[in-house]
Amino acid sequence: MIEDKNPQRTSIENLGEFGLIDYITQDVELSQQSTSKGIGDDAAVIDHTTSTVITTDMLVEGIHFDLSYVPLKHLGYKAVMVNLSDVYAMNAVPTQITVSIAMSNRFPVEAVEELYNGIKLACKIYNVDLIGGDTTASQSGLIISITAIGEQKAEDIVYRSGAADNDLLVVSGDLGAAYLGLQILEREKAVYKANPNNQPDVEAYSYLLERQLKPEARKDIPKLLQELEVKPTSMIDLSDGLSSEVIHLCKNSNIGMKLYEEKLPLDPTVIAACEEFNLDSTTIALSGGEDYELLFTVKQEDFPKIKANPSLSIIGHAVPKNEGIHLITRSGEQIPIKAMGWNSFQE
Ligand code: ADP
Ligand code: MG
Repeated sequence: MIEDKNPQRTSIENLGEFGLIDYITQDVELSQQSTSKGIGDDAAVIDHTTSTVITTDMLVEGIHFDLSYVPLKHLGYKAVMVNLSDVYAMNAVPTQITVSIAMSNRFPVEAVEELYNGIKLACKIYNVDLIGGDTTASQSGLIISITAIGEQKAEDIVYRSGAADNDLLVVSGDLGAAYLGLQILEREKAVYKANPNNQPDVEAYSYLLERQLKPEARKDIPKLLQELEVKPTSMIDLSDGLSSEVIHLCKNSNIGMKLYEEKLPLDPTVIAACEEFNLDSTTIALSGGEDYELLFTVKQEDFPKIKANPSLSIIGHAVPKNEGIHLITRSGEQIPIKAMGWNSFQE
């Protein structure tokens, strides 16, 4: 985990808007060849020789994050990941981001600095340039809106709409951990509220907390697929939960899908935490959000190329649209997968 302790508090008013912008952007380095003008003019300039992919995500305090347990550095890092994940889901390579923030003056300059430390770390690790943004006051709370820009040859961009009957459905990594990480943070917050002297013991949950607080966009997956010479027929990233994303893919591609419960990839710590919280692990795998894994379809003939890969799980296959979207349980039952998560989530 990244440390986030900064005892100093300098009021933003001391710096003013322009002073604050200068302060946060002073050490920004550019590494992308396509960035011909970064921060400092009325607009940035990019020279892409390929198609340009653009995506934006906004994170609002109280809606998307709770600062009582999310360190600002993690928040900055995650805000970038959420956007880069969308670029990778187009099979594109992210190259630049812009960052817009609105915040109340209850935040000291050091807090903004922590936020940007996370943003800059993400830029460095993922090799993207911070090329601009906007800074404004808000009456309450913190809002971060990031736009990510990426590039890819037009013919290599992968849409949600390209899946066909019989294609295999594949997911990277494992499912449900980020949701459980959030449950643990919420529980610890309640425990702390009841007794501030209580030291949280979260060692056993480090994987789950990491998946919630410091997710990584799967930049390795498009690269891996390229090496395996597999071009996905459709792709989407997992932000809202597997079942919603499967439905998006199916709707956009005009197909149905069969998913197999026994194939859903679960980390052992997810299974253990589900037992502890008395949750059904299949429900969590289907409906828990924020995994930021990639979900994609490939042609049947690509099966030998991907079957043995430890980063990839084949979890289902496409069927004609009129057959619908179903989960096949371990006992062979067919359960329809509903929008807004699996129906048993509400039970
Ligand atoms: P303008 O008034 O022309 O929009 P600003 O004074 O808002 O310009 O911004 C000056 C420069 O600083 C621009 O290049 C802008 O993209 C950049 N910038 C402003 N706010 C941020 C921020 N929060 N993060 C990164 N860059 C920023
Ligand atoms: Mg501006």
